[in-house]
Amino acid sequence: MSSVSNVTVVGAGVIGLSSGYLLAKDGAQVTVVDSGAPRFGTSMANAGWISPSHVIPFAAPGMVSMGAKELLKRTGSFGFNFGAGPQLATWTAKFMASCTQQHVDYCVPALRELIDVSMDELDHLVNDHGLARTHQPLWYLFSSNDAAHHAEVEIETMTKYGIPVQEVSLDTARATEPIIKDSVKAVVELTGDYGVDPAELVNLLHSLCVRHGVTFKDGTVTSLNAHLQGVDVSTASGAWTSDYLVLAAGAWSRELAKMVGANLNVIAAKGHSVTIPNLANQPQRTLMLAEQRIATNALTSGLRLSTGYALTTPNDRSINDSAIDKLVLTASHVLDLPTELGDIDPWTGVRPSSPDGMPYIGALPNAPRIIAATGHGMLGTMMALGTGRLVADLVAGSATSRESLKFSPARP
Ligand SMILES: Cc1cc2nc3c(=O)[nH]c(=O)nc-3n(C[C@H](O)[C@H](O)[C@H](O)COP(=O)(O)OP(=O)(O)OC[C@H]3O[C@@H](n4cnc5c(N)ncnc54)[C@H](O)[C@@H]3O)c2cc1C
Repeated sequence: MSSVSNVTVVGAGVIGLSSGYLLAKDGAQVTVVDSGAPRFGTSMANAGWISPSHVIPFAAPGMVSMGAKELLKRTGSFGFNFGAGPQLATWTAKFMASCTQQHVDYCVPALRELIDVSMDELDHLVNDHGLARTHQPLWYLFSSNDAAHHAEVEIETMTKYGIPVQEVSLDTARATEPIIKDSVKAVVELTGDYGVDPAELVNLLHSLCVRHGVTFKDGTVTSLNAHLQGVDVSTASGAWTSDYLVLAAGAWSRELAKMVGANLNVIAAKGHSVTIPNLANQPQRTLMLAEQRIATNALTSGLRLSTGYALTTPNDRSINDSAIDKLVLTASHVLDLPTELGDIDPWTGVRPSSPDGMPYIGALPNAPRIIAATGHGMLGTMMALGTGRLVADLVAGSATSRESLKFSPARP
């Protein structure tokens, strides 16, 4: 890539900003366009987990039966909105077909590589740009009748993939984190995992983009036209042509890919959270309420509780009050929460999810100057900077690894 290459990035979420930052750092002229204030702030208010232990794709053996059980439970974390239309069936069929050990073995090396690059870049933001992080490692809290067995399986699985893991005694756990109730029967530590405030990360990436000369435009991209020399981009307030375009529009990426006749199987997977302020017993680390499927993060603004994976439409912004009540009630079986919670700031966001649990990073098959950077599902915050690095290398025509080809949108 020559220093005059100009690149448009569609989407100012964590993926678009990471791509914009690293492209500009490499010398590209970058324009980031977003529909005003980033629409649902999926990147701003998620659980903020940086969890390198997540090298196993979401589509893995056992996930179909787990999903079915969650659907049947009153407090289940999985759901459907039939408004998502026919894509729901094609996405689900592809997801089910991907839940094999063979698929996991194929994906792990590529995900590990992407995560490693992301972690290095995040270290740089922590050490050189003051990004705050939790300094105590993540704990999984097991509280069901099968807690000991679940903890054992977690340790076995993590050990198999070379992830640093250890059991923590209940006495140590309760003495260190008084919020943990007696219902917790086993605690497992994932030593390399930590938490950040996702909004702080997004704001830092935005300021790094500005520092490296990235231009920001407000506007909804309404049409794309890809040709051999570049990509024509239109919004209500103007049109321009770029040498390359990075498609980082989160759960809306499928709609944009359709504009150039490409099929990107990204569905919106909605989750929700609350943030409880001023807890006297606020933990110092991220916690996973394992059987309840609730992720927590210790933020300056309070304790964030986050859950839910409902397949829906990208614009489904509804917050269900009873789901929020259930989230707090379910968490309070494991965590010592006060009865009066104050302003808990309910939030919802839509993950851009691929059916095989792998992000799409690479040129669209029929539009080689459009680089997809989407489909990160539950792990977009953690994988953002590795994605940005790969996008910048692809635009520059630099050598990329063999593993990274597994993220190609042209994969079968
Ligand atoms: C409840 C919940 C908890 C989560 N917890 C974690 C976690 O702990 N760790 C983690 O790593 N990840 C987590 N995630 C996942 C993470 O939030 C996502 O993977 C990530 O935010 C996706 O970022 P993105 O930039 O692809 O999408 P987004 O943040 O959605 O950004 C896409 C942007 O594209 C813009 N856009 C869309 N269409 C157009 C258009 N036509 N024209 C212009 N702009 C457009 C939108 O306005 C939006 O700003 C969580 C998600 C949820 C919902």
